[in-house]
Amino acid sequence: MQRSTKIVATIGPASESESTLADMMAAGMDVARIGLAHGTLDEAIERYRRIRRVSAEVGRPVGILVDLPGPKVRVASLGEDPVEFHSGTTVEMVVGSTRSTASVLEVDYEGLMDDVLVGDTLDMGDGRVVLEVIDKGGDRLKVSIVHGGVLSGCPGVHIPADRLRISTPTPSDFVALDAFIELGVDMVAVSFVRSAHDIRRVGTEPHPRGPMLVAKIETRAAVQNLSGIIETAGAIMVARGDLGSECSIEELPHLQKQIIQQCIAGGRPVITATQMLESMVTRPSPTRAEASDVANAVFDGSSALMLSGETAVGIDPANVVRTMDRIARRADEEFDYELWAERLAELRMTDDSTHDATSITDAMTLAAWRAADGLGISTILAISGTGFTVRSMARFRPQARIIGLSHNERTVQQLTLSWGTTPVLVHDRGSNDEMVRQAVTMARERDFARSGEIVAVLAGADNRSRSANVLRLERIP
Ligand code: PGA
Ligand code: MN
Repeated sequence: MQRSTKIVATIGPASESESTLADMMAAGMDVARIGLAHGTLDEAIERYRRIRRVSAEVGRPVGILVDLPGPKVRVASLGEDPVEFHSGTTVEMVVGSTRSTASVLEVDYEGLMDDVLVGDTLDMGDGRVVLEVIDKGGDRLKVSIVHGGVLSGCPGVHIPADRLRISTPTPSDFVALDAFIELGVDMVAVSFVRSAHDIRRVGTEPHPRGPMLVAKIETRAAVQNLSGIIETAGAIMVARGDLGSECSIEELPHLQKQIIQQCIAGGRPVITATQMLESMVTRPSPTRAEASDVANAVFDGSSALMLSGETAVGIDPANVVRTMDRIARRADEEFDYELWAERLAELRMTDDSTHDATSITDAMTLAAWRAADGLGISTILAISGTGFTVRSMARFRPQARIIGLSHNERTVQQLTLSWGTTPVLVHDRGSNDEMVRQAVTMARERDFARSGEIVAVLAGADNRSRSANVLRLERIP
């Protein structure tokens, strides 16, 4: 059985060589994420080019997601060796970006002295070390270590989002954005989004002409403005690292479920991210809790699961991808398709009944799901210019495999993120009849379906409209 839940892996110093990238692709990486927090823009661009090159050599579409850090605050390097912070001790925090030590932390946030107040709780390294600001004077904050821990490199510092004065995207995000738009990037993640307005400020052309925008849900404001953000963004990330610092930790699993559910109802791919196989940064196998977390994120309905430090700086990135592939594949087998079918009403997109394209595609994909389910069809061929039809189909989580066909290369790359979807580039546009014939022939040639088998084909009769209005049940010749 093919894996339905997709894998996003972050590329960093541990994974940027051509051979490691090829190993990760062979292990099942569907989307490569390029973070911009470490290193220069030129280095990130070089990584981007290398991923494209290796993907072409391997002959497998791999989406590229560039993650704009937004107002993400980081500690200047503590060095390679682990530095221990002991509970109950105090350290100083100053603005800077040169070097940090166990007693003075430099952070790259100009507004530190103005925006952070005595009594605020901060944390470093996605909650590994928790700090409280106890005094403030001159150019430095005095902070007490509430929960100690070990850190190295340049850990992120979480400052409560409502304290931060700079909004997302930042001027340096825009510089990186322009460079990657020029290169034709597939997807761009926007950090610390607070409302749909922050997504609109990115100002790129709607996908697939521009990149698909992934809104990272990691502030309390974003949770409050979730429906507007989902409507405006192309996809969503449950960014558990910062979200876990922003809300109480006991809320996090429930927020994850709620956010995922709303994304599915809206037909938006949703990525569950951060610390999924964290212990594998230094170890060859995951903890029991991590294996369960990965499987449960699949059961929650995640379209994709993300690896961060595990593949960016970990000891064996390809092994981490292989491990996630095995756990997700096994969880896909246990996925509760019947429960999903019972939830049908929640999966409908007809709220927005004023929008013709939406309600027609909603009805047509529902019909395709019913036909596939009723007839035991195992392949749905969805032909789509923008990918909208394919993503709408995926929200039903059909047992049938979805083949997403598009003549638009960017759409094919963006579909690497969609649940249960095998993206395929088709070359000719032609009439609707020709498109269907071509899809059916391709399905047989590429072994997606056997001769004599019935497949469902979804297409738009009118190339200009974004809605799918044709459903055909075709026997493979
Ligand atoms: P980050 O985003 O890794 O860029 O901080 C993900 C998260 O916060 O979970
Ligand atoms: Mn984050």
